[in-house]
Amino acid sequence: MNSLKPEEIVSVLKEEINNFEVKTSVKETGTVIQVGDGIATVYGLEDAMYGEIIMFDNDIKGMVQKIERKTVGCILFGSDVGIKEGSQAYRLKRRAGVNVGEGIIGRVVDALGMPIDGKGNFETDEFLNIEQEAPDIISREPVNKPLQTGILAIDSMFPIGRGQRELIIGDRQTGKTSIAIDTILNQKGQDVICIYVGIGQKASTVANLVTTLTKYGAMDYTVVVSSPASDPAPLQYVAPYSGTAIGEYFMKKGKDVLIVYDDLSKHAVAYRTISLLLKRPPGREAYPGDVFYLHSRLLERSCHLNKENGGGSMTALPIIETLAGDVSAYIPTNVISITDGQIFLESSLFFSGVRPAVNVGLSVSRVGGAAQTKVMKKVSGSLRIDLAQYREMEVFTQFSSDLDPSTKELLKYGKTLIEILKQPTCRPMKLYEQIIVLCVAENKLMMDIPESKLKDFEKGLLTYFENTYPEICDNIMETGLYSDELKEKILSGAKEYKEQVKGLWQA
Ligand code: ATP
Ligand code: MG
Repeated sequence: MNSLKPEEIVSVLKEEINNFEVKTSVKETGTVIQVGDGIATVYGLEDAMYGEIIMFDNDIKGMVQKIERKTVGCILFGSDVGIKEGSQAYRLKRRAGVNVGEGIIGRVVDALGMPIDGKGNFETDEFLNIEQEAPDIISREPVNKPLQTGILAIDSMFPIGRGQRELIIGDRQTGKTSIAIDTILNQKGQDVICIYVGIGQKASTVANLVTTLTKYGAMDYTVVVSSPASDPAPLQYVAPYSGTAIGEYFMKKGKDVLIVYDDLSKHAVAYRTISLLLKRPPGREAYPGDVFYLHSRLLERSCHLNKENGGGSMTALPIIETLAGDVSAYIPTNVISITDGQIFLESSLFFSGVRPAVNVGLSVSRVGGAAQTKVMKKVSGSLRIDLAQYREMEVFTQFSSDLDPSTKELLKYGKTLIEILKQPTCRPMKLYEQIIVLCVAENKLMMDIPESKLKDFEKGLLTYFENTYPEICDNIMETGLYSDELKEKILSGAKEYKEQVKGLWQA
């Protein structure tokens, strides 16, 4: 090699260039040989890439998902009516993507990023491929800023940080979507762009959700990507990738983004449908072998970028629906292992009135602890253990009538905690509200209040603090720090209020 002189390389290159033949046989158009069930097999597009967009006769777009020697298999983003054997199909030489711009905020778009809220087009300044490579490790930073959900049970025990991926998992109708929506509502004024991706939901559910978000002013910083159950499987399949591309647009500008995938079980089903129609071999539970990769490459795109890369973040809240609480099924175990923790919602808790129905034993947040505010960390320290102890004792003492005083106290304390962790929808709690309530409960100042009066007491207590000690509330919000002095102030304030309203439950 060393003997080759520069002049010689130049001559070799020249010769190569002179002899270069332009390949004239690049095929731009092909012919449909088979179509049905939203899948078209096209002959003669040998040069098409995987994931490339193909245009069909009736202006329907398709995406290459299977490449064979002479043919390619395309999934169709629309009706196959009008496409028949012999129809023409041609390459667009680009991959599927969405047009994004600041104007997309506040809008409802379909799986390909086109507006469907009847408010016309929005200005766009970038075309982003829906499939992007996840940021590499070097450009990331550990999760260190909290993303408050406003839900006491979650913020206190399973804190979420910006850039984290926290799974919400549970049976149908256990309040999964509600947790995600409350989290979006709580981002008001927090400088977080929210994206809700509805996959295979009823169109009416999404419409209601948009109404709720609008009512609480959350559409000012939210984008809704909707691919309802009536959409063909290919659209449901691409919707979360489009949503993520929209999120990346903002993340790369240094913004914090929250993205909700509601839900990935339906996404996996849509992918299974496509794969079976493309005649890929079925694997476990008839899902194709790469269904794990499907979700991992999606969720890996959520992260916290370091300063050099703008410092933006994307927090993901994927939702998974289980069947009869079975978390060990294929898709749930996949997504549990991909994410950084899960909020497990249980039907039995939900029906017994514990809402949000968070199962404290099975839920976990693996990285959010580092991002929790100091004051919350201090105040909520023993909450999980206290609740676990209560649950154990509750079962144990179910049938015994005479209990010793210490057991009685433990049971009452546990019941108080369960009661204060109940929270209605659309009522996210601010940090100071969470801290005051937890601090008062943990120091057993609520032990003598009957269960039925606890919620009223809590409400009154918070109003009392807001009116009488606004400086305590401000201090918590501004510093997020804990001190013994703060604790004393909260406890003495609570005692004052208790004295005032004593008559309420002693009558
Ligand atoms: P699906 O499986 O149908 O998607 P889901 O698990 O997403 O259901 P939601 O739609 O969030 O559940 O909630 C189901 C019902 O429970 C709704 O009517 C909602 O208002 C109610 N609900 C959810 N959370 C609470 C709560 N914390 N307090 C009171 N009601 C709640
Ligand atoms: Mg739901």
